[in-house]
Amino acid sequence: MKKNLEKLNKKIIKCNNCKRLVNFRKKISLKKRKMYENQKYWGKPITGFGDINGKILFVGLAPAAHGGTRTGRVFTGDKSSDFLYKCLYKAKISNQSNSEHVNDGLKLNNAFITTALKCVPPGDKPLKKELYSCFNFFKQEINLLKNLKVVVALGKIAFDACIDFYKINHNFSKKVKFGHSLIYNLPNNILLVGCYHPSPRNVNTGRINEKKMTLLFKKVLKLI
Ligand code: SF4
Repeated sequence: MKKNLEKLNKKIIKCNNCKRLVNFRKKISLKKRKMYENQKYWGKPITGFGDINGKILFVGLAPAAHGGTRTGRVFTGDKSSDFLYKCLYKAKISNQSNSEHVNDGLKLNNAFITTALKCVPPGDKPLKKELYSCFNFFKQEINLLKNLKVVVALGKIAFDACIDFYKINHNFSKKVKFGHSLIYNLPNNILLVGCYHPSPRNVNTGRINEKKMTLLFKKVLKLI
């Protein structure tokens, strides 16, 4: 399984299929954010991370411009990942409460984390055709997760992307609505859990806090 994942990751990293996104990730990596101007940005598509034998899959929409696209690991090196990993650690899903760079020792327990789209899109808004092309990789990741029981969608846009994915690949036709902590049945006995995105905006407006997020992650653990 690990070898298959490595093979898939090699393909993802080399992908240049979506010209608009290839140009955008290059632009971000050259322009850089002032505070990271001395760092070399990863600047390529982002692969999934964690335990491929895990039962839980966390899904974001796409890598962040100065998080994953800079560090080369999904949900790493930005404020959303700081908050996410504080909560994952409290729920005992990760071995540490920080996700800063690829060599920081981070491990996930029984969980894998990825994005539906592997390249950062301008304005965090991919075109449907970009998302649908990248579903090819998302599908291969899901197929490798043989023990998958629960998909946790991080944010409404990631939730909608997961629904789109299941509609296209599994003739899923149920009407579903995003809500934090709402649970739906997906094909193949998989559950889909809606979860607010761990973004600074959601944290600062009080929509989400550590207690609420950790509680949801503990609820997810009870589902597996
Ligand atoms: S979004 Fe996906 S399909 Fe498009 S270039 Fe990036 S990795 Fe390739």
